Amino acid sequence: MAYYGGIEAGGTKFVCAISDENFNILEKTSIPTTTPEETLDQVFAFFDQFEIVAMGIGSFGPIGIDPAKDSYGYVLATPKKGWAQYDFLGNMKEHYPTIPFAWTTDVNAAAYGELKKGAAQGKKSCLYLTVGTGIGGGVVIDGKVFSGISHPETGHIHVKRHPDDDYEGTCPFHKDCLEGLAAGPSLEARTGIKGQDLPEDHPVWDIQAYYIGQALMTYALTFAPEMMILGGGVMNQDHLLLKIRQQFVAQMNGYMETPSASEYIVRWALPNESGIIGCLLLAADALAEA
Ligand code: ADP
Ligand code: ZN
Repeated sequence: MAYYGGIEAGGTKFVCAISDENFNILEKTSIPTTTPEETLDQVFAFFDQFEIVAMGIGSFGPIGIDPAKDSYGYVLATPKKGWAQYDFLGNMKEHYPTIPFAWTTDVNAAAYGELKKGAAQGKKSCLYLTVGTGIGGGVVIDGKVFSGISHPETGHIHVKRHPDDDYEGTCPFHKDCLEGLAAGPSLEARTGIKGQDLPEDHPVWDIQAYYIGQALMTYALTFAPEMMILGGGVMNQDHLLLKIRQQFVAQMNGYMETPSASEYIVRWALPNESGIIGCLLLAADALAEA
């Protein structure tokens, strides 16, 4: 039997899966992200067991996505040791020279998965934002993963500071960008308590919601997606989703007409699977185009 292959390549782990042509996942494995060579050896060991007809990769970034550039297929300025300037796609193609590949970011794959099989089914556009160890966003417009000179990096936009927040921020590139101020590690850095252990009435949640709500307003204003979908560990907090919607409405202040916040800003419908399902869908698209 012929299968689609998908790799959701994260900074902590690689999720590899194969599916049938209806995107039913038949086998799946999780490989810790160590050195590129060691990690890819395990990726090959998994996929070599099957007859793969196309593969979709959603990688942590930033990555080179312009086929006209030498950086195409490379992982670029990542602080992850050994991976910066690594020719990820090239090494995959070398091992599987005859099959078509789709190549995008992990969050773009997740946005695509949510559009086709998750929260945004039936829509043509959506934005997906993960709030976890980092913050990253993927954008689908007109049914296609959006890209320009690069993929959007919606986690690294600058945000207006909350008046009660003087935390310096964790981003290794920008310190107090959105990721620096509102990813999971910032909750712990401010309070000494991990996000999952913080009580609901802790004032840090208001700061958190202020930043995420503000970022979502920026995305609505710039991409005008039909829906914005939130995933990642931090979004397991129900009360946070409500606070984010309130902040979005308050900060937008009636300027742009959007669906009601409860319909417009939703949680992922494919928890922890949007990315890998998106990769498998993109593999099928790559095969159709080949
Ligand atoms: P990753 O981004 O590495 O794929 P996660 O999406 O699980 O992984 O994000 C991990 C971050 O989310 C950590 O900073 C962790 O403290 C935080 N986190 C995990 N679960 C929760 C939770 N239930 N509530 C708040 N924060 C959480
Ligand atoms: Zn940043």
